[in-house]
Amino acid sequence: MTQQQVSTTPEDGPAPVLAYVALGANLGDARQTVLWAISQFDGLADVELVARSHLYRTEPVDASGPDFINAVVAVMTRLSAHALLHQLQHLEQLAGRQRPYRHAPRTLDLDLLTFGEGRIDSPRLSVPHPRMGERAFVLVPLAEIAPDLVGRAPLARVQGQKISRIQTF
Ligand code: AMP
Repeated sequence: MTQQQVSTTPEDGPAPVLAYVALGANLGDARQTVLWAISQFDGLADVELVARSHLYRTEPVDASGPDFINAVVAVMTRLSAHALLHQLQHLEQLAGRQRPYRHAPRTLDLDLLTFGEGRIDSPRLSVPHPRMGERAFVLVPLAEIAPDLVGRAPLARVQGQKISRIQTF
């Protein structure tokens, strides 16, 4: 067996899945909150952080308030997609997320972009995320860590949206 092959016996549980998660914040110390959220992924049971993009500064799209700090991470997980969403929402709560009105500024927004090859359309979860292809703040950091997932055409379509990479991690 090569190193890449993972043995799957029944007692191993579900096979791990590679998922991508978008992070955004534009309320409070947004940079610190995004860095904090990235650091939390490795502490979640059955979740392992495998890649992270730089941080990016973007103008709000479909939202109000100051500029956003955004990033995308890749995780390997044995959780189901719904269980992972639940964990993401828990992190949003820990960061003090409130939803006073639609598109309000937010201390932390976590979106599940993809879950392996999975396609999910349930009342609580749509994967791949239906709007990910329209947003530079998702596509640009995602292209940094998963270039094969982002085509040139979607990147070209969002090039009018302002986004700048923050140099330090
Ligand atoms: P938001 O205001 O962006 O935090 O939206 C959160 C709502 O979107 C929650 O009710 C989620 O159940 C739902 N939702 C549907 N699909 C997704 C997804 N792929 N990632 C995160 N939230 C999702």
